Amino acid sequence: MSSFTLSNSEVFSILFNGISEGALIVNKQQLIVELNDSAVKMFGYEIHELKGQHINILIPQKFHHKHEAYVKSFIKKKESRQMGVGRNIFGLTKSGKTFPLEAGLNPFEIKGEKYVMTLITDITKRVEAEQEILDLNASLEEKVHKRTKDLKSSVEELSELNDLLKDEIMRRKQAEARIKTALQKERELNDLKTKFLSLVSHEFKTPLSGILTSSTLAKKYTQTEQQEKREKHLNTIKNKVHYLTSILNDFLSVERLETGKFTYKFERFSLLNLINEVVYNANVTLKAGQIINYPQDLQDVELYQDRHVLELILSNLLNNAIKYSREDTTITLDINFDDKYLKFDIQDQGIGIPEKDQQHIFERYFRAENALLNQGTGIGLNIIKVHLDNLGGDIYFESQENKGSTFFIKLPIKHDN
Ligand code: ADP
Repeated sequence: MSSFTLSNSEVFSILFNGISEGALIVNKQQLIVELNDSAVKMFGYEIHELKGQHINILIPQKFHHKHEAYVKSFIKKKESRQMGVGRNIFGLTKSGKTFPLEAGLNPFEIKGEKYVMTLITDITKRVEAEQEILDLNASLEEKVHKRTKDLKSSVEELSELNDLLKDEIMRRKQAEARIKTALQKERELNDLKTKFLSLVSHEFKTPLSGILTSSTLAKKYTQTEQQEKREKHLNTIKNKVHYLTSILNDFLSVERLETGKFTYKFERFSLLNLINEVVYNANVTLKAGQIINYPQDLQDVELYQDRHVLELILSNLLNNAIKYSREDTTITLDINFDDKYLKFDIQDQGIGIPEKDQQHIFERYFRAENALLNQGTGIGLNIIKVHLDNLGGDIYFESQENKGSTFFIKLPIKHDN
């Protein structure tokens, strides 16, 4: 077995040049006293070009100052230290290229002289890889950001679309509701017409056959002295025609009120004139022994109202008072007015309205139990109430079965200026 020994300087040289890190030894003046092959390669010099040079030759100009201060403080502290970890330090090659590096500093002393050995690693690749990761991260972030933005705007678009749809749905629902109401109205109107037709055929039958009988009978009285008898039948005919006319009028009013076609026509007219006409017409329908008591000394005023509506209200109420009272009773019409209101009270001594029926009396087609033997449609009071509501007026009543009823009407006095 052969063996050989290496001298210390040989061992040093092998180790020194074998390592992949660049190794540099500088003295106290920071002059390079030794360097290995890796260091020479790393910086692109020939070894002789660097030996004896100041370390600054390998450091970019702008870091010289910083480096000097750093090495001074380092030598003072005399401890090994890693440079470039956590901060950027750079080397400068012969061709003027800068590259990032990490350096480990190891101070030592030989024969009283202070030196520092620096182990240098070129970290260009690592920095590039790190940079690549950073760039990738940044582009990823940018993509995420863009996607988020796109998503956000898609969500916004969707929510706008949603709002539009909601609007559309609401509009459709409203239209549907309108159509439903219109249909409902139409159905009600049809019901009304059907009801009216059956009412009319029922209500018209009796007066029409009465008219027929009276006219047949009247025809038989041919003698001059039979005039009184003739007149009695003619009166009956007149009454019945009057009644039929009032039913027709009531129906027409309901239809026009219902379809919104009713328009009020205001005009000036004399209160006295209206009362005389209404009472005169009502007198025709009086039963035997009935009288209408009304103020004879009524102070006349000029009203500004819908004359026909007022006439319809008063004549309906008077006709009811007559219709629902027996013979030989008195009907009283009271009239009062002040600055604001015109008031009519129509009182009778008739059959009255049963207490249980009173709450329904203004409902359309409603007729009280005790009224069913009399002819009627249950329309009149309903129309009166609708008109008075429309005109800002009011109607109420007091009634006791078999004693009589009083209807109270209040209507605001209007002026045409
Ligand atoms: P109609 O008299 O044609 O039945 P109205 O609408 O005028 O219709 O009256 C509704 C109901 O109110 C009557 O059917 C009747 O039961 C009751 N009524 C109205 N006026 C009187 C009255 N003066 N006396 C008793 N009942 C009345």
